[in-house]
Amino acid sequence: MQQTAVPVAERGREAASAASPAGVAPKPEALKIDEISPLAAASSPEAEAFRKEIIRVGRKLWERQYVDGCGGNISVRLGSRYVLCTPTMLSKGDLEPADICLSDLDGNILAGDRSRTSELLLHLEIYKASPQAQAVVHCHPPYATAFAVTGATPPNGLITEYELFIGPAAVAPYETTGTRAFAETVRPFVKDHNTILLTNHGIVCWSDTVMHAEWLVEIFETCCKTYLLAQQIGKPLSFIPENKIREILALKRRLGFPDARLHDAAVPAEGTSAELERLVEQVTARLEDRN
Ligand SMILES: [Zn+2]
Repeated sequence: MQQTAVPVAERGREAASAASPAGVAPKPEALKIDEISPLAAASSPEAEAFRKEIIRVGRKLWERQYVDGCGGNISVRLGSRYVLCTPTMLSKGDLEPADICLSDLDGNILAGDRSRTSELLLHLEIYKASPQAQAVVHCHPPYATAFAVTGATPPNGLITEYELFIGPAAVAPYETTGTRAFAETVRPFVKDHNTILLTNHGIVCWSDTVMHAEWLVEIFETCCKTYLLAQQIGKPLSFIPENKIREILALKRRLGFPDARLHDAAVPAEGTSAELERLVEQVTARLEDRN
């Protein structure tokens, strides 16, 4: 989920549990992915682990009603040359290992029997814009999509989880799905935003693993829902004090999380206090705990 860590492309669910969110060096065997043929890469142990992770996350998206029909798509980098992605015209609740396609960074299918999703171009644009993006999840959660059809985002400063893991979400302008113009709408926002609303469509989230990208979807959807519910209570909203937001931002900077507010001069530079280090350790441990 970090922005500044060394990219670890070859992490499946099992590998993710052992990796430090503060960044780990690629495993020696992982480097070989770039040196073998596409077919060999597609049948590598790393690819098999990623397929399991994509299928598991696809089921979660479907069970949580974040995808509808054959909507939504999931991808993950495999080495620096390849991407594994979900196919077109298939429910994310019904994925099988053979359904997952291997593509290059230009969207050419190199292995797999099914056609890739036309929205893979969106994912590839994110990978090109940010080397830290290792996995991408796109879906249509109802509350988040309700915001997407208004072109608005929930306000910041209300929900700690949203502040820490996402920060301000971006809003990409509308374009026809599946086109190159659609894919390019997110380009200006990728570096500073791990969560982007796609106007009149849905959301897209990127992170260091498929699982963490799905977490961002959950956090954002919950934030949208909670904000809408809170407005119905009839009481003024209670915002987190600005100095406490700056503490969260200092923590995010230390963790390497993206947030457009980190460009503000008011955010403290790299913190060194023992308390900040303790918080970093706590969040890092939380990211490693997958249960
Ligand atoms: Zn879509």
